Amino acid sequence: MKVFCKIDWQLSGVIGLFGGVKYSTRATRATRTTRTEPSELSEPVLNINTLNNGPKCVFLDIMKKRFIGAGLPTGLYVHIPFCVAKCPYCDFYSVAVGSSDTDRFLAALVKELDRYEWLDSVQTIYVGGGSPSCLGRDQLERLVEQLTQRFTNFKSSDSLEFTMEVNPAQINGKRLERLRQLGVNRLSVGAQSFNQAELDFLGRSYCPADIVGLVKSARVAGFDNINLDLIFASPNSTENTWRNSLEQALALEPQHVSAYCLTIEKNTPFAERLKKGEFSLVGEQTDRAMYELAIKLLGQAGLAQYEISNFAQSEFLCRHNLTYWNNQPWIGIGPAAASYYNHCRFQNLADVDAYIAAIEAEKSPVVQRHNCDKQDVACETAVLMLRLVRGIDLELFTRQTGCDALEIFADPIERYSGLGLLKIDEKSIALTDQARPVADSILCDFAGL
Ligand code: SF4
Repeated sequence: MKVFCKIDWQLSGVIGLFGGVKYSTRATRATRTTRTEPSELSEPVLNINTLNNGPKCVFLDIMKKRFIGAGLPTGLYVHIPFCVAKCPYCDFYSVAVGSSDTDRFLAALVKELDRYEWLDSVQTIYVGGGSPSCLGRDQLERLVEQLTQRFTNFKSSDSLEFTMEVNPAQINGKRLERLRQLGVNRLSVGAQSFNQAELDFLGRSYCPADIVGLVKSARVAGFDNINLDLIFASPNSTENTWRNSLEQALALEPQHVSAYCLTIEKNTPFAERLKKGEFSLVGEQTDRAMYELAIKLLGQAGLAQYEISNFAQSEFLCRHNLTYWNNQPWIGIGPAAASYYNHCRFQNLADVDAYIAAIEAEKSPVVQRHNCDKQDVACETAVLMLRLVRGIDLELFTRQTGCDALEIFADPIERYSGLGLLKIDEKSIALTDQARPVADSILCDFAGL
């Protein structure tokens, strides 16, 4: 069940980051000891390892040249690496707000975006973190203004998706109103739970009334597309406390809910405390019952499941996250942010001060790059698309990878369809309802060829 957690958006370990949100490729890499020959993809893979990473940033120049006429990134992820306090379960990259110069950081962020000067439009913007709402009022507004000035298509159309992550007790109605006026049209609220004891345990410094207040203020400010992030299976939580959280969340009539199972990450305070026996995890059966309860209650309220952990009204699927799940290109800016385009994944350094220094010195903040060969692209696309209830869209898969999914994954398809865990029709290959709770192991079998 651990596959259901945002914080642990992993299949069997983490190599990559999707714009701050983790995803796993460990199975992909680990199952092969030799790399395949250069890609047969129509766009040849760039050998970026040989490129200069210095001031002239040859890497970006070449990507730019190659990019013209190719599929442009549809999403922009902006990572704000500041939080009021570190939650003990979290291993996202973030530091205490105030520990670095936020003005200098924001200037660096905009400067990093300038490096992609050929990118003049995107379909989605997602400002996440960290906690963007812990930035000062002027800082957040300035950032949003700079983003909408840069991507002018956001000025002329409210149909594009601009999401901002906000935390309860960090932002008031006036600020929300201003953000809405400036073009932010989707809020993702880090609610996590409506149970005070669970919030306290998770290190969240607000109360359920703060979540309610934030959502109500957001409605008044004009937001009609609101996501609530919820965490289930916290130690000491029960099916009843989870039911209560779901019911209170639904009473706020969100358009979208992300329900993640708490996962204990290595090198977090929770991992340490678990090791010392200070708490124990919820049993697997309870964990599964909670997940099934979410599917049931959210579905009854009109929020259909469309991804392992995500539920929405039909018009409100998160378009930004669909970019990730469809394995389409996006750009991430900010410390630790990852990007994927032209079949290349790359990631910025996870150190805010070093990031600022690199950008100010006109150096690249990129520290990790990986050229995806044809097998990587096919496997990653399959694994990601299988997270969706829709599953692998066969036509889209072929268009993006140049491969026939039914052919290259013939073995796992035969095995799992025989067990009733995969369903196949002329358009798609999808996990069955029965398979979703054990998705982890099934997806691993699509992670390598
Ligand atoms: S607020 Fe979010 S990003 Fe910050 S420490 Fe908590 S869980 Fe992590």
